[in-house]
Amino acid sequence: MSAEVFSSGGGTQSCCIAAMIVNGDLPKPDYAAIVDTHYEASSTWRYMDDYIYPALKSVGVELVRIPSKEYATVGLYGGKDKETLLIPAWTTETGDVGKLPTLCSNEWKVRVLNRWLRDQGVKSATIWIGYSIDEKHRIRIQKGPWQHRWPLIEKRMRRNDSIEYVKRMGWPEPPRSACWMCPNMSHAERRHQSINEPEDFKKAIDFEKRIRIVDEDVWLTQKAVPLGDIDFDVEDEQVDMFESYCPNTGCFT
Ligand code: SF4
Repeated sequence: MSAEVFSSGGGTQSCCIAAMIVNGDLPKPDYAAIVDTHYEASSTWRYMDDYIYPALKSVGVELVRIPSKEYATVGLYGGKDKETLLIPAWTTETGDVGKLPTLCSNEWKVRVLNRWLRDQGVKSATIWIGYSIDEKHRIRIQKGPWQHRWPLIEKRMRRNDSIEYVKRMGWPEPPRSACWMCPNMSHAERRHQSINEPEDFKKAIDFEKRIRIVDEDVWLTQKAVPLGDIDFDVEDEQVDMFESYCPNTGCFT
C-alpha cells in the first residue's frame, strides 16, 4: 500500500500544512519529514522548534529531520566529473551574467527523502508538497513509485491564505525557507538576511569566497560582485527568481 508522506520544506506553505494536520483539516500522514541540507536558514529551524515540532507532536505526528549528509551521494559538487557546482549560482563565464542549473534540490532533498523512505520499508508513496495555487506552475507530474499531492492547491489556497491560516493558530508568520547561500534569493531577501540574520549572511559571504576559489566566474548574486561589497540599501531591479528556478522540489515551500 502507498504511504502518505508530508514532506515539509520548512517554509510558509509547509507550516500551513502542519497546522491543517493539527486542526484535523488534513488527515495525519503515515510519515512527516523535513530534509536538513545543513544549509537551511537559522530562522527556519527556530520556527520549527518553537511551533511546528511541538504542535505536530501534540497530535501524535513526529516530524523527522533527515540529515542530508547521511543520504546524499554528492556534496556541493557532482556530475560525471564530480566537479559540477550543484547550486544555481550566477556565472560570468561567457562574459554575460548567466545562471547554472539547479541540481542541488534534487540531490540534497528529493533523492534524500526517497532513500530515507526506502530505509523505512516504504516502496511507494504519495508525497505532500506545499505548493499553493499561485505556484501551480511548479507542479510536475511524477511517474513511478513517488507520486505527489498538493494539499493547498486541492483547497484552492494561495500563499496569503496559508499565512492567514497559520496566524489563526496564534503562531507568527513563518519565515520563508531557503538555504542561507541560495543564489535564488532576491535582493530584498538578501538585504533582510544581512540585517536580521547576520550570521547566515556572513556564512554566505564566506561560502561565495570558497566557491570562487574553485571557479572565479561564479557568484551568489546576479550583480556578479562579491556579496560583502553590495550595498543592500540601494534599490535594485533584480527580479525575484524563486518561482523560476526551484521547480518540483521542496525549496521555498
Ligand atoms: S534553497 Fe537554493 S541552494 Fe538550497 S537546495 Fe534549494 S535551490 Fe539549492
